[in-house]
Amino acid sequence: MADMFQFADDLGPLKIIHVQDAGIGLKAVLVIDNVAAGPSIGGLRMAPDVTVEECFRLARAMTLKNASAGLRHGGGKSVIVGDPGMPKADKERLIRAMAAALRGEDMYIFGPDMGTNEECMAWVHDEIGRAIGLPRELGGIPLDQLGATGYGLAQAAEVAAEFDGFDLTGARVAVQGFGSVGIHAARFLSERGCVLVAASDSKGTVYDLGGLDIEALTALKATGGGATGEREAVITVDCDILIPAARPDVIHDGNVEDVKARLILQGANIPATAEAERRLTERGVTNLPDFIANAGGVICAAMEYAGANQTTAFETIKEKIRENTLAVLEAAKADGVALREAAVALATERVRTAMSMRRWGTF
Ligand code: NAD
Repeated sequence: MADMFQFADDLGPLKIIHVQDAGIGLKAVLVIDNVAAGPSIGGLRMAPDVTVEECFRLARAMTLKNASAGLRHGGGKSVIVGDPGMPKADKERLIRAMAAALRGEDMYIFGPDMGTNEECMAWVHDEIGRAIGLPRELGGIPLDQLGATGYGLAQAAEVAAEFDGFDLTGARVAVQGFGSVGIHAARFLSERGCVLVAASDSKGTVYDLGGLDIEALTALKATGGGATGEREAVITVDCDILIPAARPDVIHDGNVEDVKARLILQGANIPATAEAERRLTERGVTNLPDFIANAGGVICAAMEYAGANQTTAFETIKEKIRENTLAVLEAAKADGVALREAAVALATERVRTAMSMRRWGTF
């Protein structure tokens, strides 16, 4: 029999809950990793091929991300096995049933993730009142539409560029994944004088050293046209700042040596393999870890949950991301370690300190 506690370490997980209702075809899992700082926040993912291990890894990533951002929330994650493109009525039934089954788990707050959106969160809210990332009509702050994560990435870029002594004016940016994160990151960086020279989506890459028009590209993407170049080419184009904002492990052994950027802002989660990250560090590339650089979305969502308005949410993103980026850059330099190592140490220390102030087991 597999070890039931195979994922456990001193941080968590606090609970792993399987949810099943054969009558309607619901198969799901919730991992509440750590709640020392407060009720856990993490997305509800819907995908055909999710595992308990993946759910745990994502929950742990949320523990670190929320701790780094200094939120009053721990980390958790939930997944429903299913095709997110299923008929809406079926999806609504599964999501409502999942929420109802977890009504008593008040140490977990649902959020949107791959395969779920604001409307799904409205269903959860309707069932149990415990969801973030709600539609505006329910008091939500539409973080993807406003570009909360892209805004945070641009803040991180400013701090990193200043730390490394280079000017953002004229800096050439390449974005992989021209979606909610990528488009807004490009937009906020262009307001700081950067030039978007390459962008890709699932269909291909467009490249223009003279600069791409972000608005025109966004409009083109909305019509489904545009990119023709080789899709993975965006990772190795000549640029100063690379923003992977699509899929995991896109920087790997096979392309890491050809990466030209001096600054990488990890918009997506785990966009580089561990080995690729090691080699980037060796080459002196500033490779800002995902849970530091892309925390804008969850900060915005946590502010929404606390009842803050949009202006306060964006001010908080700015303050927290700048503070954390600088702390990680300074710690890595002082200790001579990789940025991810410094970031994990910082986040873990915060979680442990929070744990030391709680009477464990009273949740
Ligand atoms: P999105 O669906 O809005 O956009 C994703 C984009 O990536 C799309 O344009 C898609 O065409 C493109 N894409 C897909 N596969 C690709 C590939 N192989 N190569 C190039 N492009 C590809 O998603 P999003 O909300 O922008 O999220 C992007 C990533 O950032 C995800 O990994 C997500 O988990 C992560 N993330 C998102 C947020 C947020 O606030 N939305 C916050 C933190 C992390």
